[in-house]
Amino acid sequence: MTHHAIIVGGSYAGLAAALQLARARRRVLVLDEGIRRNRFAAASHGFLGQDGRPPGAIAADARAQLMAYPAVTWIGRRAERAERTRTGFRITDAAGESHEAERLVLATGVVDDLPPIPGLAERWGRFVFHCPYCHGYELMEGRIGVIAASPRAMHHAVMLPDWGPTTLLLNGAFEPDADQRAQLERRGVTVEAGPIREIGGEKADVVLADGRVLPFDGLFTQPWTRMASPLAEQLGCALEQGPQGSFIRTDALKETSITGVFACGDAARAAGSVALAVGDGSMAGMAVHQSLIFRAAVQAEGEALPA
Ligand code: FAD
Ligand code: MG
Repeated sequence: MTHHAIIVGGSYAGLAAALQLARARRRVLVLDEGIRRNRFAAASHGFLGQDGRPPGAIAADARAQLMAYPAVTWIGRRAERAERTRTGFRITDAAGESHEAERLVLATGVVDDLPPIPGLAERWGRFVFHCPYCHGYELMEGRIGVIAASPRAMHHAVMLPDWGPTTLLLNGAFEPDADQRAQLERRGVTVEAGPIREIGGEKADVVLADGRVLPFDGLFTQPWTRMASPLAEQLGCALEQGPQGSFIRTDALKETSITGVFACGDAARAAGSVALAVGDGSMAGMAVHQSLIFRAAVQAEGEALPA
């Protein structure tokens, strides 16, 4: 077979998996469409040694280092279809070309579905965020608004006072009960019930339906995430439902419910970050390599992989 492993998704998780396999002198094909989840943000925070760098620069450096290994092939195209073969897996890409390998790694990430408030999507990653650990510090203890999109707004609203004075904007999406109101009060959170008309201004002014304008330095909301690619479903990988969307179930070695298919990064955990994607990807890469050695028996020519 041409490749030992095909990695779909060439961002942090996929790059980390590919690096381990390349260093194990295995032939790796990376298929990547290049649409990273954090492409809206100017700086990435919280990844050791790279704090505050542009997210694209971190990925570009990693890719350049990976491509220095001669056994890595990169195709900048979307993988459209995944299927099992008698000895491994076949991927068909957007150009209709097919690629086969003994192992498959899904590092395809997720897509954020944002609340449909006018002016919000344009500010995503600049003034509207979902992760306080990624973007809370840079607000420099300025005014923070939490736009409720689901009951998970409660979690945001109770955490965010550590980063600045916080207002919870219910916007008809969530109604705190008496206990929750008491909890919000203990954390000093202001609650605003009025519906939101739009987000405007230079930064993140919330314009309410009654015409009032509440200025904020940053807003947080709770997007639903969905998987960026249907490959896991096509293969029949078991999914798990997390608090913000479904993701691919894996074991501790990042193997899915389908033997030989591994998954890492945001696609395979309830909530992700660059550091966690890199950690998961490294684990997947090493586990793929070892499975190629220790599971050689089931790879025997003509013998189907067990489910
Ligand atoms: P991604 O980086 O999303 O990459 C997935 C890759 O797979 C993409 O290149 C995509 O095009 C490709 N792909 C998907 N499907 C296919 C297919 N079928 N065929 C080919 N290629 C495919 N985290 C931090 O740690 N710090 C931060 O400061 C931070 N800021 C963020 C800001 C915003 C606005 C957002 C939305 C997220 C932020 N995150 C941050 C989270 C971070 O973006 C993710 O945790 C991280 O990108 C996950 O890496 P990944 O490799 O799993 O997926
Ligand atoms: Mg991923």
